[in-house]
Amino acid sequence: MTLGRALEHVRHQMPRYRRWLEDFLRIPSISTDPTYASEVRRAAEWLARRLRNDLQARVMLWETEKHPVLFGEIPGPSGAPTVLLYGHYDVQPPGEAEAWQSMPFEPVVMGDRIYARGAADMKAQIIALLAAVDAAREAGLPLNVKFLLEGEEEIGSPSLPRVLQDHAEALRADICLNPDAGMQGPDLPTITYGLRGLALFELEVYGPKEELHSGLYGGAMPNPIQAAMRVLGCMHDDQGRVTVPGFYDAVRPLTPEEREMLSRLPFPDEEEVRRRYGVPGYWGEAGYTPLERTLARPTLEFHGILGGYVGTGSKTIVPSSVTVKFSCRLVPDQDPDEVHRQIRAYLEAHMPPYVRWELRYGVGAPPVLLPWDTPAVQTLRQALQETWGVEPLLARSGGTIPAVAFLQQYADVTSLLTGFALPDSRAHGPNENQHLPTWEKGIQAVVRFLYGFRG
Ligand SMILES: [Zn+2]
Repeated sequence: MTLGRALEHVRHQMPRYRRWLEDFLRIPSISTDPTYASEVRRAAEWLARRLRNDLQARVMLWETEKHPVLFGEIPGPSGAPTVLLYGHYDVQPPGEAEAWQSMPFEPVVMGDRIYARGAADMKAQIIALLAAVDAAREAGLPLNVKFLLEGEEEIGSPSLPRVLQDHAEALRADICLNPDAGMQGPDLPTITYGLRGLALFELEVYGPKEELHSGLYGGAMPNPIQAAMRVLGCMHDDQGRVTVPGFYDAVRPLTPEEREMLSRLPFPDEEEVRRRYGVPGYWGEAGYTPLERTLARPTLEFHGILGGYVGTGSKTIVPSSVTVKFSCRLVPDQDPDEVHRQIRAYLEAHMPPYVRWELRYGVGAPPVLLPWDTPAVQTLRQALQETWGVEPLLARSGGTIPAVAFLQQYADVTSLLTGFALPDSRAHGPNENQHLPTWEKGIQAVVRFLYGFRG
């Protein structure tokens, strides 16, 4: 039987797939830092060689203003459905070197995990896709396979909308399988059906042209930090709700059915969060559980403030400017551009007239809510169920994967979100790792999906 042969092939070829993974992890494809641009390209070229030489795919590198998008195509039987496999080959910077137990770009196996930047997010997931297709090719590819591998996910996929519009025809597919969403726990295979969107902001508030002595001018001179704190501090009320008018208007309410489904997902309780993070407890919007706040409710979150005197000791000045970075996580059916207008209108109404200010709006990604009862979801459920022997969880994620909304919007391809990274894989943090037995199961699950998918 072909599926059986493909799974057999996976077992035999695991050492080879491990070598692929280790080679891939050695490339520091950090997209957030322009000095690594050539390494990001090297990762794309490394993948292009695997697709061309090992999978016999027809390959194209689509250039963008930043990092190339790799497209690959392997024809299956004529009339068979087409699956598009998505991945991003870029990674986050490693962060503080001292926090790592090993070198971030020198993969090391400890216990049954492999440690390296990008291991979980999402180089092991990409290799799982390649390995599954390699095994399926050996046994007889049951459908048409396409690859879409981008290098800008960690910077918000700014080039992707353009690429999708230009190549919508080449990307035509019945479904996109995207393994960037991870698992809810060990041996808890997960299908993620919702993602929050994102709108990024930077507010700059200006006072006097140069900083001034507060003994001479304090009390009479406009202070940009005072003005910014006053306005931004009022953007949440005592119930943890965002006060920006219209902010919640487009938010789709949670149904009782969905609340029940979400309540089954694992989440650290109040006691654990106290112990682990040293805070007195959770904070946020009244009327929703902490889990619901992180998965299914929108936020306004401050990330950083830069301005005035921040050195040791004191320096009594009236500062000349302050910059505040913040963002909103969005849920269906909020629109990032509309939220941008609401925030701007709020600042126009509330920022005191004695300061000048400027609001910069970063790349936005719309939120997504995918259907969870289609035949494609059913096929994936079954593939995961047969591999792990347990019923997969259906979950929403509080995070953002811009490609999912963009693929829907510009290429009319619906995504299926899953993944084989465990919750403690420390994606974006030090000692990022991939649990190897889960990774091997992931490869098997993708193989099962390829054989089960009927379009
Ligand atoms: Zn990712």
